[in-house]
Amino acid sequence: MSFCVSGIVGLQLYFSYKNFEAEKKAFEKNTNESLQTALDSVLEQRDQILVRDFERWISDTSFINITSRIDPAYGVTVFTMAEVNPSGKGQDKVSMSLENFTKKVEPITPEARNVFVNHMVNEVAQDLKKGYVFFYTQKLGDSLADRKYLKPIDTAEFRAQYKKELVRRGISIGFSLSPKPGANYFKTRPVNIALKRSQPKRWLTASFANTGLFVFDQLKWVIAGSAVLLLVTLFCFGYMLRLLLTQEKLSAIKDDFINNMTHELHTPLTSIIVTAEALQKFRHEPETQNRYLGIIVHQSKRLSALTAEILASARVQRTGIVRDQMVNARSLIDDAIASSNTANIDFPNRESAGHIFIRGNYDHLLRALANVLDNAVKYSNGRPKIAVTAQADAKSVKIRICDDGPGIPDAEKNRIFDPFYRIQTHNVHNVKGYGLGLSYVKKIVEGHSGKVSVEDAPGSGSCFILLFPK
Ligand code: ADP
Repeated sequence: MSFCVSGIVGLQLYFSYKNFEAEKKAFEKNTNESLQTALDSVLEQRDQILVRDFERWISDTSFINITSRIDPAYGVTVFTMAEVNPSGKGQDKVSMSLENFTKKVEPITPEARNVFVNHMVNEVAQDLKKGYVFFYTQKLGDSLADRKYLKPIDTAEFRAQYKKELVRRGISIGFSLSPKPGANYFKTRPVNIALKRSQPKRWLTASFANTGLFVFDQLKWVIAGSAVLLLVTLFCFGYMLRLLLTQEKLSAIKDDFINNMTHELHTPLTSIIVTAEALQKFRHEPETQNRYLGIIVHQSKRLSALTAEILASARVQRTGIVRDQMVNARSLIDDAIASSNTANIDFPNRESAGHIFIRGNYDHLLRALANVLDNAVKYSNGRPKIAVTAQADAKSVKIRICDDGPGIPDAEKNRIFDPFYRIQTHNVHNVKGYGLGLSYVKKIVEGHSGKVSVEDAPGSGSCFILLFPK
């Protein structure tokens, strides 16, 4: 699983990186192509304006005179476009017939004039598109060439076009256009905005700051998706690992419990069998016979107590707790002390405890308290010094049982309330138990909507606190 998870994480990172690179390449391609496209459309717009100028010029009769006559040899209409004030150098007029114009017109009519003007405008538009200026007459050619080549490209207009083209391609970050971009920026390939080959080159480059951030922004949802998937995978992996480890620990605890149990059941049973067989096979003095019967009774009681403990715990789980009594704290603690077989238990505030009541189930509470007291005795190396107190405030009742035993390490303080859990260092084989006592106490206290906890006693030992709501 570790191998798979690291593989998945690695691949995801690799794919994210590749994605990032691909997006960066696309960004570079788009910014470069857009620059060329922007230049092309600026030039196209200039040409369109130029074509309209040309139309104005040849429609201006004070500048150009358009006439027509019928060619006697071919019988077609020949149009002539002549400068009104020729400069004296170069060609000042041009004559031509139009292929699609079959009418014979002499002198020229407004209609024929229109056809000719339109034809010329189209011709010039085609020429400009192909990238050259045709000199139909010297003056017209000069005017066209001046406008086309002498007025440089307006960089503000170029910038607007570039921005428009970038936005069309989904790129909306700031840029600067300059001949020499800064070193720390991403820059496009330069384009030459000089209008004629013979002119000196004018390079212009677009440069972008924060391209990484932009590309990252484009990918943010993909990256966020990947990150979520990765986190979920890692979480599941961790959770499963925890589950597996808990299961393993639980299974070890259960094994331990079964071993203990078998031992606990086996010893009294063997002793009962051996004693019963001895009674069966041999005749004994009444005194010996009584002693043997005593052993059988004692061992059977041990077995019965053991099964009762397990059954009580299981019953609480199955049927829950009926809380229909007002239990007096003094009687409860008195009875628990009485059942504990030791005289070393102090109950300093016995008097005031007489006024404290807990709503609950007397039998369960008694058994729970007795369990805590039993532990205090069991784990105190034979000479216990135990104190029980009961206190009440407006909201709760607190019963506190302190001993001077070995105490409980912090790491174990929560776990001792788990079923079958026993602290390994407490020499579990010397002190008998199944790890069920405190889990039962917890069930009972929580069944009374209370809380059980343990803390270190002043000096050595531990204090168990049973807190019940009033
Ligand atoms: P057990 O049958 O082992 O006594 P419990 O559930 O009653 O099971 O207790 C769980 C573990 O908590 C014990 O095995 C013991 O190690 C520890 N423990 C319980 N009470 C005390 C105490 N008063 N002092 C020290 N350790 C205790």
